[in-house]
Amino acid sequence: MRRGIFGGTFNPIHLGHLRTAEEVRDACMLDSILFIPSGNPPLKEADLAEAGHRYAMVRRAVESNPYFDVSDMELKRTERSYTVTTLLELREEYPEDELFFILGVDAFLDIPTWWQPGQLIRLIDFIVVARPGFDMAHAVRSPLLEGTASPLSLSSSSPLRLEGGRTALFLPVTPLDISSTAIRRLVREDRSIRYLVPESVEEYIRSHGLYRG
Ligand code: ATP
Repeated sequence: MRRGIFGGTFNPIHLGHLRTAEEVRDACMLDSILFIPSGNPPLKEADLAEAGHRYAMVRRAVESNPYFDVSDMELKRTERSYTVTTLLELREEYPEDELFFILGVDAFLDIPTWWQPGQLIRLIDFIVVARPGFDMAHAVRSPLLEGTASPLSLSSSSPLRLEGGRTALFLPVTPLDISSTAIRRLVREDRSIRYLVPESVEEYIRSHGLYRG
């Protein structure tokens, strides 16, 4: 089974996440995509909804798609949660599966600042999606790529090699300039978020009074 892993804060999940995941599933012939909302950080961050709320919104957002699922594995951890730990657990849970880590180009460029990036890029193959406001061409500067890549090589349909032997496929998807930050701002300003998030998520945010300030 080819399984996509889509991690994020999902604060809240929006249609940019959902459409991106659907296009990746289709283009990369994945059998399923597992959304993994991050847990509560040790220090409370302003504007970050409780992990339980973020998980509940993802669950509502994915329930009508038979290929999508959500995991609470990062919520359950009491210690600080790292992507490396999550991926090691997933490899144990799905030893037969081919796993692909899905992330936006902004997040991919950030990996060197994550915990144990060298180990992370040796654990899994990556599918890196374009995102409005972030130039895909900048990805060639990533120190994680093996050798020197040209911007042209990013548009190839074959994946590029990463240091350590894993690969990263760069995938253009329908550009949807939606961010959780913008959604939180709209809620705070009492403006509409309709058609930016699924109806069930809009309703959840309203009924729980999230992101009001
Ligand atoms: P925030 O605005 O709070 O930073 P976000 O909208 O970037 O949040 P995250 O939960 O941080 O959402 O994102 C999870 C993953 O989804 C990241 O890899 C990010 O690059 C990707 N992503 C988020 N929004 C989009 C989008 N509109 N198109 C493509 N990828 C996206």
